[in-house]
Amino acid sequence: MVQLSSWRVIALKGIPYVSHIDMDAFFASIEQAANPTLKGKPIAVTGIGKRHSVVTSASYEAKRLGVKSGMAFFEALKLCPDLIAVGVQSKKYGYISKEIMKMMTSVSPRVMVASVDEAYIDLSFHTKLEESINRFISFKRDLKERFGITASVGISVNPIISKIASDYSKPNGFVVVKDGMEREFLNEIPVKDVPGIGKHTLIKLESMGYKMTGELLEGLEKSPMDLYTMFGNAFMGFLQSLTKKRFSRNEFFKEERPKSVGHSMTLSGDISDFDLIVRVTNFLAARVIYRMGRYKMEGSGVSFFFRYADRSSKAISKKLNFTISSIKDMTEITPWLISSIWNGTAVRAIGISCWALKEKKNQRQLSLFEKEKELLETVLQIENKFGEYAIFPGNILFLPEIRKLEKPSDLHYQGFCRREVSC
Ligand SMILES: [Mg+2]
Repeated sequence: MVQLSSWRVIALKGIPYVSHIDMDAFFASIEQAANPTLKGKPIAVTGIGKRHSVVTSASYEAKRLGVKSGMAFFEALKLCPDLIAVGVQSKKYGYISKEIMKMMTSVSPRVMVASVDEAYIDLSFHTKLEESINRFISFKRDLKERFGITASVGISVNPIISKIASDYSKPNGFVVVKDGMEREFLNEIPVKDVPGIGKHTLIKLESMGYKMTGELLEGLEKSPMDLYTMFGNAFMGFLQSLTKKRFSRNEFFKEERPKSVGHSMTLSGDISDFDLIVRVTNFLAARVIYRMGRYKMEGSGVSFFFRYADRSSKAISKKLNFTISSIKDMTEITPWLISSIWNGTAVRAIGISCWALKEKKNQRQLSLFEKEKELLETVLQIENKFGEYAIFPGNILFLPEIRKLEKPSDLHYQGFCRREVSC
């Protein structure tokens, strides 16, 4: 009798590794590859012409001088007077990102996109670590040839350690932490380089004398109560996940729906007209609905924030006793959200998000909603074909602040989606 089942078992017994791959200075590298005159120079991808533009991505030449993403451009200029500003081109980066993610399936068929420039790849489809390494070598070569950029790869048996490893020798890094070597590797890692440890936790940990991850893991073994008392259960769970040699692969790679969907916009100028604020908010709210529609979800929580011209900010978060699934639902509550936090002064940035998301029920078949349903589907189809910002509501283009912009991508505009990644 042919022992098909035993053959299957052997074929499926893959290596226990998982990799994390992260593009190096993604947006800045794309711009340097596209324009040879920028190669080898300190550049910052930023919203050009904005009063308070922020560095979205810095080239390694700029990073070496201390320029970081999220820094105000004028601050970055102080550190690096020769810094060259290059305008953000979100559509281009989005397109390249999607192409790169497709290319990653040449390494292994199971890829989990973690952000626009990073992903986890399940290597259990390979039976030898060398196979994974060779495939990554080919991938990195193809990436350089096709887009002129590099990526850093970390491989280990634990997704968090793989993420630390991909960051360990950037740019163009390739770090493999062999099964059994996790602790030796972590001993070398400063606590500040562990993803998931925030600024406040870091300050407390340092005040307790924990500088290196090895020391922290020793603390976990020797005096867990001290850490528990200071940081609580969630942090203890996080630390334990760092030491895990096995993780639930199916759980980790399962298709996860977002926990919240939001959009924010930094305007080219301050606005203080209520009607104008409502219109911009409604535009963002429509984007939230489109995005939720993409995931076939609806939400019953809403958060809203303003950043004022004086850089102070105000936010509100509300759990509603009804679900939001249409633009109509959203536009009914936006004036109320605005009124509840607006202090009447000039506004610089606005953001709105929906949370407590769940699968959309199809009970609303009334004709009143049919038109909007059709509109939503049409928008999604157009965006699928031409990219996410291919369609833009007309009412926002009538706004004086918006009209002077040449195209929607000139807005410093962000969409965000929160997923929880745990080991
Ligand atoms: Mg990156």
